[in-house]
Amino acid sequence: MIEFRWGTATDVGRVRQANQDQLLTATPVFVVADGMGGHNGGEVASAIAVDEMAKATDVASVDDLIDAVQQANREIVDRSKLDPELRGMGTTLVALVGMIVDGEPRLGVANVGDSRLYRCAADELAQITEDHTLVEALVRDGRLTAEEAINHPQRNIVTRALGIDEKVLVDTWQLTPVEGDRYLLCSDGLFNELTPSEILEVVHRVDDPAAAAHELVEAACEAGGRDNVTVVIVDIITVEAAPEPASDDRVISVHKAVPDRVLHVDPPDRTGPSDPHPDEIVVDRQASKPPFVTWRLGAFVAAVLVVLAVLLSTLVAYARSSYFVGTDGEEVVIFRGRPDGVLWFDPTVEEPVVLTVAELDPADLADVLDGVEFDDLEDARGYADAITQRAVTEP
Ligand code: MG
Repeated sequence: MIEFRWGTATDVGRVRQANQDQLLTATPVFVVADGMGGHNGGEVASAIAVDEMAKATDVASVDDLIDAVQQANREIVDRSKLDPELRGMGTTLVALVGMIVDGEPRLGVANVGDSRLYRCAADELAQITEDHTLVEALVRDGRLTAEEAINHPQRNIVTRALGIDEKVLVDTWQLTPVEGDRYLLCSDGLFNELTPSEILEVVHRVDDPAAAAHELVEAACEAGGRDNVTVVIVDIITVEAAPEPASDDRVISVHKAVPDRVLHVDPPDRTGPSDPHPDEIVVDRQASKPPFVTWRLGAFVAAVLVVLAVLLSTLVAYARSSYFVGTDGEEVVIFRGRPDGVLWFDPTVEEPVVLTVAELDPADLADVLDGVEFDDLEDARGYADAITQRAVTEP
């Protein structure tokens, strides 16, 4: 048995209209879920996630924990199929669960997305979970430094979330519970506003977990509060039949989920940015509609849009770049555009030539009726002056 003490705080922040974060403290299950998706999707997804995890109070292995997360994922997927307004909703999930494995007390950790679990060690904020974000993948791949990642414009793009696919990739850890240890679960609204040392200062100074959680959330709001902020602090009070920690970092085992199907094999001589996790889903939580697209589909659509935009601007330039002298009813005028128009770009009257069709020299009549084209307005005016000179101005 493990005895816990905990405290929580959550806030909508200073920018967002709604708090899509959810937290759960159903001893021995502690969860933070950060929902995403338009309409109310984010709130619904994170609420389903914590409701399902609340049932996981007697997990006896990390496999049980994975099953609980998979069940939460299915519930969200099924719900989004029922309601078109909720399509595309998703949520991150980080869970810390007390469990008895083969008679031994253990802590199980599950993570999907970029909410985090830290252990508040004496001298550092030890991040246990690994973010499933595009930026983190680029850092792992050596394409971005940790410093560049901190304020990267795409740091909001997560590569895994519950509610997107029938199965979700879940990372798990098994830890040794140690009396006196303090754990911190949080949404990205906390660590995107506060540095690790700012967080550590509060969790060391403030003993009461609820007071510490409130102070952290308040500080994140004051630092900008650009996102919802949620903090759950969990203290390990007593551990019956406490085992010796297998290592200083408490970690007994780690299970990193890897894609179980290969969709893409990198060519050996590839150049340019790679997708280090080709099977993962890219979810941009700041996009409203659609809330997520696959990385490759997004890139393809963007490329098609760029080509269309270039074609359209070329077409407009072609359609509007020339002038011609033609007829508008009984009047001779200078048009801008092409005599027959280009697709839906019809020529427009640029200026009148003080001359009627009836006054035209018979030699000019056929040309003007067809439209006489020029590359610029000055040339068109020159031609208009010439046919005016030739025109029969006296009956
Ligand atoms: Mg967030």
